Amino acid sequence: MLTLKINREENEYDIYALVTSFYPECGLKVVIEDSDLADTDSDIIYASLTPEKKNKGFLRFLAGDMLSGNMCYEFESSEKEPAAVKKQWKLFLYDSLSEYTGRTLPWGALTGVRPTKLIMGMLNEAEDSGVTAYDVRSQVEKDLYDKYRVSGKKAELGIEIATLESSILKPFVNEDGYSLYIGIPFCPSRCLYCSFTAFPIDAYSDRVRSYLDALKYEMEQMRIYMNGKEPDTVYVGGGTPTSLDEQNLELLLQYIGACVDIKSLKEFTVEAGRPDSITPGKLKVMKKHGVTRISVNPQTMKEETLKLIGRRHTTDDIRRAFGEARDAGFDNINMDMILGLPGETLSDVERSFDEVAAFRPDSITAHSLAVKRASRMKQWIAEHGAITGLDADKAMLKANETAASLGMKPYYLYRQKNMAGSLENTGFALEGKYGLYNILIMEEVQSIVAIGVGTVSKRVHKDGSGLIERCDTHKDVSLYLSDLEAMVERKKKLFGEGK
Ligand code: SF4
Repeated sequence: MLTLKINREENEYDIYALVTSFYPECGLKVVIEDSDLADTDSDIIYASLTPEKKNKGFLRFLAGDMLSGNMCYEFESSEKEPAAVKKQWKLFLYDSLSEYTGRTLPWGALTGVRPTKLIMGMLNEAEDSGVTAYDVRSQVEKDLYDKYRVSGKKAELGIEIATLESSILKPFVNEDGYSLYIGIPFCPSRCLYCSFTAFPIDAYSDRVRSYLDALKYEMEQMRIYMNGKEPDTVYVGGGTPTSLDEQNLELLLQYIGACVDIKSLKEFTVEAGRPDSITPGKLKVMKKHGVTRISVNPQTMKEETLKLIGRRHTTDDIRRAFGEARDAGFDNINMDMILGLPGETLSDVERSFDEVAAFRPDSITAHSLAVKRASRMKQWIAEHGAITGLDADKAMLKANETAASLGMKPYYLYRQKNMAGSLENTGFALEGKYGLYNILIMEEVQSIVAIGVGTVSKRVHKDGSGLIERCDTHKDVSLYLSDLEAMVERKKKLFGEGK
């Protein structure tokens, strides 16, 4: 176990994110205290900043069994503004960790989940300075390295995506629009790596109808506090929305249709997801109610892995569900894949992508496995040891090559903590099949009204302040049902009823 000692709580997130990226296989214990480190035989990384100005500090390595030797790097900032000092400190931490370990990270010191939002801002700034398009790109690439140590490859990818997103988002940037997210927190079973709000539907069958009625109530209230304004997109996610039986799925879609003008939507997604929950009847119901985009998610095409991660479906189920979705007339089908699943080698990943390519989906989302604290995977690793020897970089390259061979472009990207290889999740799509909601939520250009268990609504203020306010809902179904009125009131307050 590696101990990360920090002398100030406010520094915790950045340091923690960086150290776990450099030491992904080590358990990390965080201790917040100010003390001189005496001789010790345990492995300690100690990050300390001076109390007031925080413009001086150090990063010290004390080696036990894991670290390679004792070392201390000194920090002194030349900046005056606290925000600039903080940036310098973060870069110092990255450079020190990089020098000590002899490794670099693809995204450098960038630990945020939305690199393309940052890059979009940098591109706009460089464009405003009046330089040529070529110079804009090279300026941003240089800044990404100088300020964050982002590798050339990742800078190129980020710039490509941010440029495409900017053109897709143009109509939304100045509009005070919003999208509607509806959360269905039920699944056929819980996957090993899951950290979402998702409960086995069989155990909740007696509460499903009350839950749908609560969603209906929330949607009716939303009509009032959004002054009858129609959303641009609707996204039904979860969980697995198609874990609802056919009657309940139809009821949900009827409720949505009663509150939203489906014909005016720019996109209507139901993230079907789990192939074991998809039936011809449910596909017919979704088509009838105007759903334009669905997902059939394999995650892997390796049978043993599907069993190991608790998906309770086979590769034949994936083939069947995808074929039935095409037969039902869906011409915008996404497939999610995960890189870095337990025991998978590079050739497993390559085989899976080759099989997925044969389906000719309209988009593919390649996720790098992120091991979350709330997942059973954390326990699994504790019992079974390191997950995989997968070369995450080469696996992501395969995802890129597969998407390119199908004529897809990368169109959105986000990162999470503890991702395999410190990489990213990338969405690839054919032209015109980009998941609009995905871009809108990632780049935060419009508000999201989110209803249901474990969801987070977001108000993006359009007054030039850049202010974004959030409001979450209970993660427990019973609590959500009993406290519905209070949650609706909070959303009314967030979106400014009557303004
Ligand atoms: S399908 Fe998705 S939401 Fe459901 S248990 Fe698996 S990872 Fe979690």
